[in-house]
Amino acid sequence: MEKLTGGCLCGKVEFEILNEFAHFQLCHCVQCQKVTGSAHASNLFTKPEAISWHSGWDNITRFDLEGRKISNAFCSSCGSRVPYLSLNGDILVVPAGSLNGIPNKSPQANIFWAERARWYDAALTAEHFTEFIE
Ligand SMILES: [Zn+2]
Ligand SMILES: [Zn+2]
Repeated sequence: MEKLTGGCLCGKVEFEILNEFAHFQLCHCVQCQKVTGSAHASNLFTKPEAISWHSGWDNITRFDLEGRKISNAFCSSCGSRVPYLSLNGDILVVPAGSLNGIPNKSPQANIFWAERARWYDAALTAEHFTEFIE
């Protein structure tokens, strides 16, 4: 079975994961805008046993928002989002940006579309550049 590597920006958290994701969703809800600091979360979903942690597991901080199914897990050193188990323990949620390779699934759905950032529609048609611009 093909595996992908993944990890955080500073390199303290590293893992390997089976490239057999079940779903890939972009979540535009207001909670995901807050936890990502961006337009949407880009989450892949797989089974809990698909991941092998290589390093940094004890350097992960987890946050669960009471009363909602919103969780976040991130490297305590650099703040990068990393995979975490759903609250009921059934599903492993994998932020797509934490992967080093190309997942087997492409984004299949934009969920909570009505809550999307008001500036997001303009982002879809903004000009493309290859580096920082002034
Ligand atoms: Zn890190
Ligand atoms: Zn969301």
